[in-house]
Amino acid sequence: MTTGTTIPNFLASQLRRICGDGHVLTDPDVRAPFETDWTRRFHGRSAAVVRPGNAQAVSEVVAACAGAGVAVVPQGGNTGLVGGSVPALASGAQAAVIVSTRRLTGIKPVDPLSGQITVQAGVTLATVQASAKAAGWLYGVDLAARDSATIGGTVATNAGGTNVIAYGMTRANLTGIEAVLPDGTVISHLQGLLKDNTGYDLTSLLCGSEGTLGIITAVRLRLHRPHAPTTVALIGVSNFGQALELMAAARAGAAPVIAAEVIDAAGIELVCAVTDVPQPLTTHPPLVVLLELADGGDGQGLAFISDDLDMAVATDVATKQRLWAYRERQSEAYASLGVIHKFDLSIPLANLAQCADGLRQLVSTFSSVTHFGMFGHIADGNMHIEIAGPARDDRDVDHAVLAYATSFGGSISAEHGIGRAKADELHLCRSAAEIGAMRAIKDAWDPRGLMHPGVLFAQT
Ligand SMILES: Cc1cc2nc3c(=O)[nH]c(=O)nc-3n(C[C@H](O)[C@H](O)[C@H](O)COP(=O)(O)OP(=O)(O)OC[C@H]3O[C@@H](n4cnc5c(N)ncnc54)[C@H](O)[C@@H]3O)c2cc1C
Repeated sequence: MTTGTTIPNFLASQLRRICGDGHVLTDPDVRAPFETDWTRRFHGRSAAVVRPGNAQAVSEVVAACAGAGVAVVPQGGNTGLVGGSVPALASGAQAAVIVSTRRLTGIKPVDPLSGQITVQAGVTLATVQASAKAAGWLYGVDLAARDSATIGGTVATNAGGTNVIAYGMTRANLTGIEAVLPDGTVISHLQGLLKDNTGYDLTSLLCGSEGTLGIITAVRLRLHRPHAPTTVALIGVSNFGQALELMAAARAGAAPVIAAEVIDAAGIELVCAVTDVPQPLTTHPPLVVLLELADGGDGQGLAFISDDLDMAVATDVATKQRLWAYRERQSEAYASLGVIHKFDLSIPLANLAQCADGLRQLVSTFSSVTHFGMFGHIADGNMHIEIAGPARDDRDVDHAVLAYATSFGGSISAEHGIGRAKADELHLCRSAAEIGAMRAIKDAWDPRGLMHPGVLFAQT
């Protein structure tokens, strides 16, 4: 690897020839938004940001950087929450080149026979959803950052989101991939065959690899038939045990459950304060469950819920959006408190209630903590924990929370990935043998460690 904080002249010339002058950004002010992540907790320094316009150009960019011994950081919408979308500070080492996929915006018509669509990596999630809808189909992955997150980013992180209970994680909605490997080689497997037992499944391997094995340039996605109109309800409960019972009762009903979310009182209060909306329920309960049921949109799917519970129900689009906002604006509301220590835990459902109570207790022992809140995807056992107070680089509370979650058989990342934020803790939920097997793949594909160094694996 070469060293330096600016891009070597010969490489800059090569990149300009490949991408065009206007797509090699070296001015520090122009680069700055690409160098800080959404959380503002993670930032780094790049030598340049390049914006190739097609897969061939991505391949040439990666090959040129590899030839110069310069590391590459793939970046989509920069909405990732684990510091994985930005480079490291690169003290001493040659700063990396950020390869932004945002110009890869090609999108093919929906194939009505297979119910699949092929899109380039820089298309936003919202555009994929809208394209599917316009053709009479539905893309099953949804999350609050849909207008900025790219489909390539969602595949690279195997994003989850609010509809996993109905349609699974991103990997379950993916049938093919095109990607540029760390030496610039392009692999393309976009036929979308449902049955294709021809060796290693590179599509699944690249999904969730967080940019460490290559740059995804296009994907083929499985679509679904649209579900029946829905009813949305916010229901007040006393604790996680009651929230889980409600979720299980909803799943046992006839109406498909499209989403089952949970938000604690701290999160509801914060959204009300930050976005100037009223409390959604009259009793201000300790926890609120959000259910969306595909019951035809007449509210009949909620008949199993006891009249004793405080509840707000929506069947029209505007009111549904208003109720969803209490959940969707959680990250934004916590971000208003400053730098947030964010956690994305996956806990076995049988242990979730006990773990949630214990976490609240554990975090209360840290005097640096000023705010603590929980929300998440309750049917998936996916709890997002937001903590304000500890300094940006203070990792004591981070380590304690992650270790506590794994003591319940949980995972330190349900859906956001490991990124830079949790690379030091990967060993908490992956054995030495598993990490060794993952490293062997990484070393075989990227022997010089130039593709996204410091993400997923701690830098040695
Ligand atoms: C308000 C908010 C809500 C969110 N809700 C959810 C949620 O419910 N569920 C969830 O899973 N996530 C959620 N996220 C996190 C984030 O939106 C997802 O991780 C998303 O998948 C990132 O997409 P992106 O295009 O912004 O990727 P980036 O942030 O740019 O990158 C994320 C990672 O993917 C890699 N990457 C990006 N594009 C490529 C590519 N083409 N090829 C190879 N690697 C690539 C990057 O190197 C990085 O490691 C949320 C974020 C915000 C801000």
